[in-house]
Amino acid sequence: MSRVYNFSAGPAALPEDVLRRAAEEMLDWHGRGMSIMEMSHRTPDFEGVIRGAENDLRALLNIPANYKVLFLQGGATLQFGMIPVNLLRGKTRADYVVTGSWSEKAVGEAARFCAVNIAFSSADANFTYAPSQDQLKLDDRAAYVHVCTNETIMGVEFSSIPETGNVPLVADMSSHILSREIDVSRYGLIYAGAQKNIGPVGLTVVIVRDDLIGQPLPGMPTLFDYKVHADNGSMLNTPPTFAVYMAGLVFEWMKAQGGVAAMEQRAIARSQLLYGCIDASGGYYRNPVRIADRSRMNVPFTLHDDTLDAVFLKESKDAGLSSLKGHKTVGGMRASIYNPMPLAGVQALVDFMGDFAKRHG
Ligand code: PMP
Repeated sequence: MSRVYNFSAGPAALPEDVLRRAAEEMLDWHGRGMSIMEMSHRTPDFEGVIRGAENDLRALLNIPANYKVLFLQGGATLQFGMIPVNLLRGKTRADYVVTGSWSEKAVGEAARFCAVNIAFSSADANFTYAPSQDQLKLDDRAAYVHVCTNETIMGVEFSSIPETGNVPLVADMSSHILSREIDVSRYGLIYAGAQKNIGPVGLTVVIVRDDLIGQPLPGMPTLFDYKVHADNGSMLNTPPTFAVYMAGLVFEWMKAQGGVAAMEQRAIARSQLLYGCIDASGGYYRNPVRIADRSRMNVPFTLHDDTLDAVFLKESKDAGLSSLKGHKTVGGMRASIYNPMPLAGVQALVDFMGDFAKRHG
């Protein structure tokens, strides 16, 4: 068996230790003679798995007691709609900060339910930077302010959190949750699809302050109500049991590695190595994002000559470096280097890039 270095943006690489443990437990979870996937969610065993995952996530992110942790389905995309449905609470407006395709998509869904104020957009600069506080045109009548703190496609990451006063701040952290230390109490709601830094696809994590829930728009399906999920421990209906179990294993792995502080140090080391290579290439490779706002998780880059893209992709794949093709909307390459990516994987990529530039200079 040989595993590649997988730079996929999501579903993405998982820690090898976690995959091995899941494989070991696949036929016989803890002596029960069945896999976790085959077990009812209404068993004390699964109850232990889901509450264990919640407790580990609470410990990793220091989540205050007045926040609910919900394990949902429907992806981050469903949250684009569930957020206005739950957080408008009688108001009719919301502020959106647009720094890339994902925040743009969130606007599209919110506009179905309320008047959206675009408090900031970097569209005029091809989404290559994050706003400073004085660039935000916030509306104090807004029910909440929505940001995407790491734009997966353009690779733009917020290095500081907008100040929104009494208006709750809502953040899509899908592609960088658990990769840097955060102060949860600064947010009203944090959400993330699991398939990047948390586990397999099929699970979406929502962390929400408990005073914000319980007043959804009328006429919505029961499952759109955060309070219903909170009151039922995320098990009103059958939860994505295998994805929750895998997320739990990833959280245990992170704790054993030294927690979020250790993940952040590694992310800094990986991203500095890769951006260093791009910036030292004399324009052979380019990343267009403002340096202060460059993502530690998603590193898009172009080659000086795009006719070499296909050769780069073929040769990198042959070298055991998988899934470097950039998103179709921006082209070029993208290396997603989430928590499970070892520094050796980025070193292998950087070595390959240097060698490629020499050979195809
Ligand atoms: N937000 C961000 C920042 C993302 O990267 C993605 C997926 N790549 C989404 C939302 C949508 O997630 P999902 O496919 O889980 O709905």
